[in-house]
Amino acid sequence: MLDEYQLEQPIIYKTILNAIKKDTITHAYLIELNGYSKGLDFALSMAKFLLCPHHYTNLKQCQDCHQCQTIDDGNFLEIKIIKPDGQWIKKEQLEELQQEFNRKAIVGNQKIYIIDGVDHLNTYSANSILKFLEEPVPGIIAILLVDNAYQVMKTILSRCQILSLKKEKNKEYDTLPTKQLLANFSFHNQEEIDNFLETADEKIEVMIDYITYFEKHGYQSIIYKNKSFLEVFKSDLFLVFQWFILYYKDVLNYILNRHLEFFEQEKDTIQEVASQNTVLSISKKIEILLTLSEKIKYNINSNMLMDKLIIELMEVKK
Ligand SMILES: [Zn+2]
Repeated sequence: MLDEYQLEQPIIYKTILNAIKKDTITHAYLIELNGYSKGLDFALSMAKFLLCPHHYTNLKQCQDCHQCQTIDDGNFLEIKIIKPDGQWIKKEQLEELQQEFNRKAIVGNQKIYIIDGVDHLNTYSANSILKFLEEPVPGIIAILLVDNAYQVMKTILSRCQILSLKKEKNKEYDTLPTKQLLANFSFHNQEEIDNFLETADEKIEVMIDYITYFEKHGYQSIIYKNKSFLEVFKSDLFLVFQWFILYYKDVLNYILNRHLEFFEQEKDTIQEVASQNTVLSISKKIEILLTLSEKIKYNINSNMLMDKLIIELMEVKK
């Protein structure tokens, strides 16, 4: 189901959902995988979603209608997947496809072909595809997969809507924004959640950069980091303080030889921070963060708060 990708691929998920809502599904999509490992699965879920007779009435799960089940079982005739036969996708493979599509759809009135690896088209097969794309037949949708759009001929590119998938991060890493953040914050609607998740990974990077810089350079953070940090987190201060706490908890885990719970992906920086701290210093830092994060609820001036944070953390003896 396409819904499975809501958190992992929020942008592309929203694009497809909107296209269905507004009835602006186009005849050809080029999906850039960017190293994402589940590209074909994604394309199939997308195809299923586009073809499901229930998607117009119910944008969420169709509760496995007969058609979606047939697709899952691989028995649905109106979806064709083409992969390179050896090194290339051959012209004959596309001729077969053409013949398939000349007959009328048996179920519903839509057909979808997925080409897994458009960078494997040779001159002949590329020309056949171009013909498909130049003279779109109503009811036939193409989903083309490739790792990077630059690997595709411009003439093909210009006839597709390009969608980009995000490379997946380590699973552990992904659970942090989804679970901790959603638990710590009250969002008003799905759109707010989507918007937040779109930027969560970058925000985590900024927050880790901030801690590691502080651990190395101490007071200089006030001059060199606080301003840019606040530009990112001004309205999410409470949240980022929770992240700080989780990060230091993992530093503590590391010192105590326990498994990292939240930032497995950050083992290197955690190891470094751990080498400059003790169980006692980390516990004190967590205490300071907890106390200060309470003050955020009372609309304390955020510049002052960040300065105070650095000053108090610096007073902790190593
Ligand atoms: Zn269905």
